[in-house]
Amino acid sequence: MLYCVWFKDLNKDSLGLAGGKGTNLGIMYNLGMPVPNGFAVSAQTYREFLHEDGLKEEIAFQLKNLDVQDTKKLQEASKRIQDLIKSKTIPEEIQDAIIESYELLGTDKNSAHNLLNAKDTFVAVRSSATAEDLPEASFAGQQATFLNVKGKDAVLKAVQDCWASLFTARAIFYREKNNFDHMNVFISAIVQKMVNSERSGVMFTINPSTNNDKELVVEAVCGLGETIVGGQVTPDLYIVDKKKHEVVKAEVKEQEWGLFRDENGKNVQKDIPKNERKQRILNDKEVLELARLGKKLEEHYKKPQDVEWAIEKDEFYIVQTRAVTTFKKEEESNDIDAEIDAVILLKGQTASKGVASGKVKLIKGMEELEKIKKGDILVTTMTTPDMVPAMQKAAAIVTNQGGLTSHAAIVSRELGIPCIVGTEKATEVLKDDQIVTVHASRAVVFEGEVAHEEQEQEKEKLKQVYQSPGFVTATEIKVIVDIPEVAEQSALTGADGVGLVRLEIIIANGAAHPAEYIRQNREEDYVKLLKDGLRKIAQAFVHKPIWVRCSDLRTDEYRNLQGGDKEPEEDNPMMGWHAVRRLLDEPRILKAEFKAVKELHEEGFENIGVMIPFVINVDELKKSKEIMREVGLEPVKDVDFGVMIETPASCWIIEDLCKEGMSFVSFGTNDLTQLTLGIDRNNERIANQFNEMHPAVLGEIAQVIKVCQKYKVTTSICGQAGSRPEMAEFLVHQGVDSISANADSVNEIRKTVARVEKKLLLDAERSHDEK
Ligand code: PEP
Ligand code: MG
Repeated sequence: MLYCVWFKDLNKDSLGLAGGKGTNLGIMYNLGMPVPNGFAVSAQTYREFLHEDGLKEEIAFQLKNLDVQDTKKLQEASKRIQDLIKSKTIPEEIQDAIIESYELLGTDKNSAHNLLNAKDTFVAVRSSATAEDLPEASFAGQQATFLNVKGKDAVLKAVQDCWASLFTARAIFYREKNNFDHMNVFISAIVQKMVNSERSGVMFTINPSTNNDKELVVEAVCGLGETIVGGQVTPDLYIVDKKKHEVVKAEVKEQEWGLFRDENGKNVQKDIPKNERKQRILNDKEVLELARLGKKLEEHYKKPQDVEWAIEKDEFYIVQTRAVTTFKKEEESNDIDAEIDAVILLKGQTASKGVASGKVKLIKGMEELEKIKKGDILVTTMTTPDMVPAMQKAAAIVTNQGGLTSHAAIVSRELGIPCIVGTEKATEVLKDDQIVTVHASRAVVFEGEVAHEEQEQEKEKLKQVYQSPGFVTATEIKVIVDIPEVAEQSALTGADGVGLVRLEIIIANGAAHPAEYIRQNREEDYVKLLKDGLRKIAQAFVHKPIWVRCSDLRTDEYRNLQGGDKEPEEDNPMMGWHAVRRLLDEPRILKAEFKAVKELHEEGFENIGVMIPFVINVDELKKSKEIMREVGLEPVKDVDFGVMIETPASCWIIEDLCKEGMSFVSFGTNDLTQLTLGIDRNNERIANQFNEMHPAVLGEIAQVIKVCQKYKVTTSICGQAGSRPEMAEFLVHQGVDSISANADSVNEIRKTVARVEKKLLLDAERSHDEK
């Protein structure tokens, strides 16, 4: 039995032995990267330890019938199990193996330390999950890390603490929710020598602030790199031209103090001698040596890397490397590129990427919409759906308010128009007829007409984004189509259907407010308006499912339409009289919408289904179905009939909704996140806290999918989060049936899903082989 495995003996197939982190370290080590040496206490060692002295049975007993929703009970059980694991004596054979390896590590002549006593080597002990790609929270994963561990007793204790960390309350909760068998999740503990950083820092193998992949960026400080991450010390900045292998920029910062490890393993602040404070931390040769290592890592992983490095006694060490994530890229693209020599007038959030120049048109009220001519820049406080016709003419859109799920953001992405939201003061700073360049990919507005080349490049990129890669995934990847005019372009993505059509855009392009059609007894006109719009979408997606969402009209958004002035004034329209609650108060509107669907079915478009928004009661589902029957369609049987899960209430009553009967559910994460977190999705001040990956939202989603699977109700997502790779990954793990993304994200999501599905299959095969 291999209790401890050295990095040199690990390779890409070592996941089951050393977990993701250990495997990665092994790969790097064998690639000739100067990673500090170490070993993995294998997952099998943990498994054997579990069999010790009835431990496994005791843990199972503690978990049996545990109600994980009961936080207090969950925490108590977690503590009992962790105490239990920590209280057991590690079998002598295992203890000996760990101590022997630890002591050997200290005698390694390539030691990162200059310690006299090999038995007193400083090491880091980290947990490494054996199924790294599964949701991080399922495992202790990254959480359990013990730094500056010294001496054999401390090492043994840290290993045992790593094992115990597999049973934090959070980890138990997630495994329970995701149907993982607690006893079949294993953990490896990685013991690695600690570098005593004299100088350290980070390296990005692309320039993260400009996304320029021809450059590599190194940040460096004296002492430990934590001071960079914490922002306490401004690092030196070096930029390398990757092709020429030349340092093209060296920005030296004054560093007054640094964080250093003392002989007891404690991190202490130390002043840097005055004469050294303004000196370069790395010379050109050193920067280029790091760049060489960085390029090698990038080549190996085939992705830009974010690397942590350190220097001890003039030796370089690579401490960690991970892919620069797209998400990060997007965040960091807010930084400004010094290369565009123009005045920046405004900054905001990227809602839809791209670059465009044009004349500013300030829109203060709907009556001013006519000002917009093709190619103008639409600048307004906040767009509303009835501005869509004008938005279609605009070259770019800039708003004061709004976050990424605001209406302006959603529509502009679909139209493929560059859009920046949440600038706070666009309508004050920009003047009518002023020429500007909206560089939405960098989230800034420049004065004048600049960045011509980038405008062309961005257009080209957008075209490519729409091309279908031609492979299929088990999880269906659908697209969101709100604007019939762009349906054909969206169909180029090869999406497996349309996961959401918002009727509001078709409505906004018509003459009157739906309520007004009804007041004037012109239902037929409303039916025709809807049919004409939907038919265009149906023609672009022949035989593929199209889910049409019944109208979700907020009272503040359609005032410009005929009869819109009769809409009530509400303090809080987001939580007001809209969606199903309104449709059931005005059932003739709903009936007309169902009638449009029925008549399209009769035309041969039987692939059109419907979904009901903002449900909070089973009764709403029941009544909507009755109204559908009135138009002569049997819900579920004749037509796909679904419910949007976008209120926490709908999550809590999911079992009853399933019992009432429906074809599918679709997560409206825009509203679900807004309502779960209490974060107004349109409020730019708190937009940075709007996060669909919040554990509360993920917990709701996981639970709903689980119940739906029991009742064989199909699950899907149609909120903006479906365009986030990390959400797609999470959903595939939960077993979601389909994911809808914005047209410009369909292919990225398809690739993510393909990767995750493949990994799940491999893991399943591996665990099958192990049994
Ligand atoms: C949602 O809430 O996630 C959703 C898809 O609906 P809307 O964005 O139209 O509110
Ligand atoms: Mg919604």
